[in-house]
Formats: sequence, C-alpha cells, structure tokens
Amino acid sequence: MSEQSLARPPYDVVIIGGGPAGLTAGMYASRASLRTLAIAGASTVSQVTATDLIENYPGIPEGINGFDLAERFKAQALQFGLETADGDVTGLTRQSWGDLAGWEVAAGQQRYGALSVIIATGANWRRLGVAGEERFIGKGVSFCATCDGPFYRDREVAVVGGGDTAIQEAIYLTRFAKKVTVVHRRDRLRATAILQKRALENPKIAFAWNSVVDAIDGLDLLQWVRLKDVTTGAARQLNVDGVFIFVGLTPNTAAFQGLIALDNAGYVTVDANMQTSLPGVFACGDCTAKRFRQVVTACGDGATAAFSAQLYCEEMKGEAY
Ligand code: NAP
Repeated sequence: MSEQSLARPPYDVVIIGGGPAGLTAGMYASRASLRTLAIAGASTVSQVTATDLIENYPGIPEGINGFDLAERFKAQALQFGLETADGDVTGLTRQSWGDLAGWEVAAGQQRYGALSVIIATGANWRRLGVAGEERFIGKGVSFCATCDGPFYRDREVAVVGGGDTAIQEAIYLTRFAKKVTVVHRRDRLRATAILQKRALENPKIAFAWNSVVDAIDGLDLLQWVRLKDVTTGAARQLNVDGVFIFVGLTPNTAAFQGLIALDNAGYVTVDANMQTSLPGVFACGDCTAKRFRQVVTACGDGATAAFSAQLYCEEMKGEAY
C-alpha cells in the first residue's frame, strides 16, 4: 500500500455490491452518519435488475419492475450521503491507520481503506455446461427473460429449470412466445405453489418432465436443443428459437476464497448478525449461506449487516456507549 493511501482516512464502511442487500446496507450505514462507500461490480449486474416483475415486495401491491426498484433503493441511499464507485473487487488485505485497524479493499487500480467491510456481492446465474451453451449466448441462449423475451414474439422457446426463477420467467415469456416448453429434470417443480399453479394452468406452457438439455445447436442462430429423458435415457430434438436457462445460482465470492469462511457451495457463512469469520467483515444477501433468497430478505440482511458494522466501528473508535 502506498504512503499516500496509508495517510488517507479510511471509510467507516465499504460495501462490496450494488444490489438490494448492498444498497440497503448503504442506506442504513450512511443514515447512521457513517462514512460509507458502496462499490458496485463493474462486470456483474444485480439479478434484481433483470427481473421483470416483483410482486411480493411489501408496500408495493401493484408490483414493480426489478430495475426500477433497484433505482429507488439507490436514490434512497444517496439521499443519506452514500458514496458510490464501480469496480470489480479482487480482495481484502488487513490494514491499520494509527490505532485503527481495518481492511484495504482492492478494486481494479483503486484501493479503499475501511474500518469495516460488508460483502454483498450476490450470486450469478449458473450454466448448464452442455455443448453449444456458450457458443449460442446472444444467439438464442439467454439468462434474462426481461432483456431478451421481446425477441421471441410468436416463436417457440424452452426454459430450463423448475425453481421460482424458471417458472416466473416462463410465465413472463408467454407474453411474447407462442409456446414455452419448461424442461425440468424431475417430475415436480421446486417453485412456490402460486407460481406452479399459474404455469400449470397457462395454455402456452408445456412441460418436458424428467428431462435435461444435453446439447444446444443450430446454424448461425439456435434452432434446436436435444432433450434426454433421465428415466429412460431416450433422446429427442426440440425445435426452439431460444432457450432460457434458470438452473440456480453461483455465489460471487471467488475474490474471498481462502480468506473468509465459505460453505461447500461457496456461499459466505455468517451468524445471525451477519458477522463473517473475519473481524469487522460482514456479509448479507444472496452471497451468504442461507435457505431463502428474496429481495426482501436481502434487504433485511443488509440492514442487519449495517447495524453490526455500525456497532463495530463505534467500538473501534471508542465511541460505543
Ligand atoms: P433454485 O431454486 O436453486 O432452482 C434451480 C432449479 O434448476 C431447480 O428446479 C433445479 O432442479 C434445477 N437445476 C439445477 N441444476 C440443474 C441442472 N444442471 N440441469 C437441470 N436443472 C437443474 O434457483 P432459482 O429458481 O434461480 O431461485 C434462486 C432463489 O431465488 C431461490 O431462493 C428462489 O426462491 C428465489 N426466487 C424467488 C422468486 C419469487 O419469490 N418470486 C423469484 C425468483 C427467485 P431441482 O428442482 O431438481 O433441484
């Protein structure tokens, strides 16, 4: 670390991530008069921004587009003085400034000093890892129905997965596509009951049960996927113009591997106060190990992490009472 940055007074809190968890933490921390910076990923987007409709966020009975909700979170946090930056965080290093110990957060060429850090890096869409998947990204393979759905007006598409995301987005895609085939590896859906009911009753949605996509192909653009029945092993071709893949998440925690305790799937382990295995480092939202991943739970985690960071900073500065 350079002498210049050593002399620079650190932030009270540096938040890594610009999604619902990070922005809520930013709002709480800056409103508590902590000098707070939120670093949004330069090469990642928050999942919420790709969600067409959020109808279970309290206080918004009419529902709201995910991008619009994220913009509102940001506006609310900024009005309390949250500072923001963009950059992909690559690591944390223990650092001290006189009597104060904290962390140096590296993001590209930038280094930010912080008494406490809140990791809110979220999670990203998992890939199938089958032939053709990478090649046809942008040419028929998509991970975002809101972004790409309108390209499939009056066409046929497949959706892979049986969770909330797959079923919600399959329903959304029926606004455009004439037929949506949900390809699911089991004979029952994982999605919540209300979404299941809507999908099963939707005449534009068909189901390929007990099936996986094991190849994606076409000429310049995607033309078909190969389905394999996992019970019989039989293969068949499904002609579609697009395939939307929603098979779960991978946490964005690679930068913290070997530094902080993660579970087997790579999620950050936290206690009920969002404390991680490192002093002064908290984590919240979809990057943490937990059962339930919703916008509202990410926000709740964010508020808890900010409050824990506040108490930690007060202790560090001898201001606790
Ligand atoms: P998820 O709940 O983990 O579901 C992933 C789905 O993909 C499962 O049906 C799984 O099958 C299937 N799958 C996983 N790997 C696969 C593979 N290699 N090949 C084929 N299928 C595979 O993920 P998600 O739907 O993205 O949801 C993530 C979190 O966000 C969840 O906590 C969810 O509740 C939340 N969410 C909530 C809402 C809402 O409330 N409206 C909307 C979106 C997301 P199995 O079922 O056999 O495991």
